[in-house]
Amino acid sequence: NYESKVTIVGSGNWGNEVRMWVYEEILPSGEKLTDVINSTNENVKYLPGIKLGKNDANMLVFVTPHQFMEGICRKLVGKIKGDVQAISLIKGMEVKMEGPCMISSLISEQLGINCCVLMGANIANEIAVEKFSEATVGYRENREIAEKWVQLFNTPYFLVTAVQDVEGVELCGTLKNVVALAAGFVDGLEMGNNTKAAIMRIGLREMKAFSKLLFSSVKDTTFFESCGVADLITTCLGGRNRKVAEAFARNGGKRSFDELEAEMLQGQKLQGVSTAREVYEVLGHRGWLELFPLFATVHEICIGRLPPSAIVEHSERKPRFE
Ligand code: NAD
Ligand code: 13P
Repeated sequence: NYESKVTIVGSGNWGNEVRMWVYEEILPSGEKLTDVINSTNENVKYLPGIKLGKNDANMLVFVTPHQFMEGICRKLVGKIKGDVQAISLIKGMEVKMEGPCMISSLISEQLGINCCVLMGANIANEIAVEKFSEATVGYRENREIAEKWVQLFNTPYFLVTAVQDVEGVELCGTLKNVVALAAGFVDGLEMGNNTKAAIMRIGLREMKAFSKLLFSSVKDTTFFESCGVADLITTCLGGRNRKVAEAFARNGGKRSFDELEAEMLQGQKLQGVSTAREVYEVLGHRGWLELFPLFATVHEICIGRLPPSAIVEHSERKPRFE
């Protein structure tokens, strides 16, 4: 009998309900973000307009931009009880000397706790107003723990399924952000829906091939779950990565992603640009650059080595793995 006491680590656009660990910031008004959240029950910076739920956790939900996770884990080392279960909603990865490290592995290794993942077609603002969506929990071995997470997250408007493929689920959520940038470039160049669909198809093919090359255990069926094709579609239609990439292409690549992110997202963070760089590093180290023309081209566009218009002519080159 396990009484669930949940804490969310992160307080961004996708952090809501129950206790939260909040990265402290001073608002333009001079007030602390935590004071305002505590007094108004609203995250005025990252999820304005939504009232948060009322509130010693044994279930930790990690949801912060992936680039901050190493630092956050360092702050949490030694502060977590032994019987804690974790789940990561974080889309992204780290690249270390030894190779790529998924964020759930980083959490597991640094904090010594089991970590599942939850990914899916889950644009946060829509979930916050209870519009129906689905999600996928990825787990390694322990089906019982996965079922606990499913029970915890499931609501009539948020339908969760568990699959035994933690790497596949996490890589889907991570890699679709790179494809979303490509889709955004196509939108910015006004190339139309057929071209965008072609880019999404090529992107999905690269997501699957890359995931399976990194982890031979990754299952084909995972790409048909919410974390796979559905998340790819929603992010390429309505996500932040798509939106900022569209603006980047409209400006002919003359304004940097950093500048556009700061201007358009008010402190929220893009995951796709750093993920594209991380994926590119892995491709370079392993000699796979020619196998993944779309992933490689997205990074080269982001850093200004290629113009946004390169997305179609470069990505359609047939990779050798087919
Ligand atoms: P966000 O983009 O709204 O970023 C704000 C968060 O970053 C806040 O928690 C803030 O405290 C934190 N932060 C800002 N600067 C920091 C710093 N220097 N150090 C530590 N923390 C700092 O975050 P989000 O939208 O909640 O996204 C978090 C993760 O969830 C990402 O990996 C994202 O891909 C994933 N995700 C987001 C959505 C969505 O629709 N927002 C949906 C599914 C998954
Ligand atoms: P963006 O970060 O591009 O908004 O994507 C959100 C997401 O992951 C939806 O599932």
